[in-house]
Amino acid sequence: TAKRLGRNNIQLFNTDMQAIVDERLNIESRLREAVAKDQFYLVVQPQFNQLKQMVAMEALLRWHHPELGEISPGQFIPIAEQSGLMLAIGKRVIEQSCEILRRWQSSEHWRHIKLAINISPAQFNHEDFVPHLENTLQRFQVNPERLELEITETLLIQDFDAIIDKLNVLREWGISVSLDDFGTGYASLSYLKRLPLAKLKIDQSFVRDMLNNSNDEVIVRSIIGLGNNLGLTVVAEGVETSEQLQRLQQIQCFYFQGFYLGKPQRPEQWELELSSNSENLATGSSLPGS
Ligand code: C2E
Ligand code: MG
Ligand code: MG
Ligand code: MG
Repeated sequence: TAKRLGRNNIQLFNTDMQAIVDERLNIESRLREAVAKDQFYLVVQPQFNQLKQMVAMEALLRWHHPELGEISPGQFIPIAEQSGLMLAIGKRVIEQSCEILRRWQSSEHWRHIKLAINISPAQFNHEDFVPHLENTLQRFQVNPERLELEITETLLIQDFDAIIDKLNVLREWGISVSLDDFGTGYASLSYLKRLPLAKLKIDQSFVRDMLNNSNDEVIVRSIIGLGNNLGLTVVAEGVETSEQLQRLQQIQCFYFQGFYLGKPQRPEQWELELSSNSENLATGSSLPGS
């Protein structure tokens, strides 16, 4: 019976594996269709400074499937990366972001707000990435100084010199670069001094437990110290409570993003909410706990 059980277990395992493969292929073919049918849209989440002013928004991708509903980027971006669909999807993110920025540029209250977009390694490394970005900025007449690109440490393990060259070109246009999810990857600290960086974003996994886990607090403190000393803007991601916000300020973190301060929602929704009380933008009094 042991042997039989073993065989059944293997059978079960294979069935599970098959289900995973089927699911993957399923998502991949639906993704292909989603690109063709343009089922993607952006939500934006604010970032605040110490003076409680909104300084930037981050664009976060959403996929609305007519039958399956909303599918989160954590589920489909890895598959898009592996199947070569990320470039096309990333192009839509850039185009939709430029559309938003063009609208903000014509509003007195919004024209100083930067928009950050996440760029995956497959997208960044593609030869079409830079020409498409340049072309789109021109087409929408967007000031590149309003645009921020968020890259992750995963990108940096590839041809580092080529990445630096590309980033320097973008910086010359006025685009700024942030290092996202900092502390979770394998990048060497010596990369930091060679990267043309403006911002470090502390990964939310450290912020989540920093009040209960002293190791996480030490990591958060170290990243803040490192970033501040390198002259970078350090942003804490995933701020969910006023206690976290207070603690972060005590340990010299001056920029924040998270559900406590503002959830990701459609840009039109933010525009409505903040224009009905435009002082929120000018004075930033929308930051809770003030
Ligand atoms: P990320 O760039 O680190 O974005 C932060 C994620 O944390 C977002 O999840 C956001 O909704 C979520 N978040 C924000 N505040 C809080 C909080 O207080 N608590 C918690 N628990 N979560 C919070 P989302 O939108 O599901 O995106 C997940 C990841 O998918 C992003 O992580 C980014 O790596 C990737 N992604 C999203 N949009 C794009 C895109 O347009 N292009 C690429 N290449 N990647 C994207
Ligand atoms: Mg990000
Ligand atoms: Mg992040
Ligand atoms: Mg992340």
